[in-house]
Amino acid sequence: MILTITMNPSVDISYSLDKLVINDVNRVSNTRKTAGGKGLNVTRGINFSNIPVLATGIIGGTTGKFIQEQLDEDNIAYNFYVTQKESRNCIAILHQGNQTEILEAGPRLDNDDVEQFLQHYKKLLNHVKIITISGSLPLGFPVNFYVNLIELASEYQIPVLLDSSGQMLLTTLKSQYKPYLIKPNQEELKQIIQMDIDVNDSHSLIKALKHDSLDDIPLIVISLGKNGAFARCFNHYYQVSIPKINVVNPVGSGDITLAGLAVSLHENESIEVMLKRAMTMGMLNAMEAQTGFVNMNNYHEYYQQVEIKEII
Ligand code: ATP
Repeated sequence: MILTITMNPSVDISYSLDKLVINDVNRVSNTRKTAGGKGLNVTRGINFSNIPVLATGIIGGTTGKFIQEQLDEDNIAYNFYVTQKESRNCIAILHQGNQTEILEAGPRLDNDDVEQFLQHYKKLLNHVKIITISGSLPLGFPVNFYVNLIELASEYQIPVLLDSSGQMLLTTLKSQYKPYLIKPNQEELKQIIQMDIDVNDSHSLIKALKHDSLDDIPLIVISLGKNGAFARCFNHYYQVSIPKINVVNPVGSGDITLAGLAVSLHENESIEVMLKRAMTMGMLNAMEAQTGFVNMNNYHEYYQQVEIKEII
């Protein structure tokens, strides 16, 4: 089974307006509410691939209940640590081709929640083969919290796939307990290595991937949007090219790419198949309007068009 971790999930509310009028009333008839958070997108991607998956993290209040109901509707298994504090809402207003977002920070949690969640997490580790960690931490959680999760997973020899950014990612990379795989995008990679990268130049990408802070991470997949990906897998370098597709909504493509990587590792696939699967999943997400949704009927057609070239 794959365990996905979403520490600060949300109810994602999307309002479609013809025009957003500032300093006036905007009435909305077209509203969509879904369970959100990067880790829950990963969970959906794994579920679409028909691999057993369990979602965990922290939820609370009526928003927390709504998240559970939505996951029930999607037939997704979950086991969250439940607090009294309301989970957050994240609002996206779609207007005239623009997207204006209002994102709540979420509840402020305390040391007791940290401890309780760690106990909860330990109890889930028995039947888990792969763990994914995505997104940010709740307010009040220590910046090295993901290091704790990786350390506990290492006691069970469970590889952890980490898709995070900022200080949480930097702190984890500096620690003794490393993730098995990271999937930075171009911006996240720049944050890590603190230097400019030319994503069209494989020498520049290889130089970036040789940065000290990336030592001891077996698999690194730099996702590059429409330009595919560049990867370092056990000290081999791969350029991954993808076909041109009809992009409808690329939001969450990185999450679904991580789902593809997790599924592949769960199924013990080769590096080539893993990279192809991950890219195909990302593309399928970008071709759909709904974030975190893929049409698996198109899988084979796009999978065949992904090209992997080892750079020697
Ligand atoms: P997000 O934060 O929205 O989840 P990300 O920045 O982490 O995304 P990207 O590199 O944008 O991740 O996308 C991941 C993968 O999804 C790409 O490697 C590619 O396979 C696919 N993808 C994303 N955007 C596009 C696009 N415009 N055209 C084709 N494929 C895309």
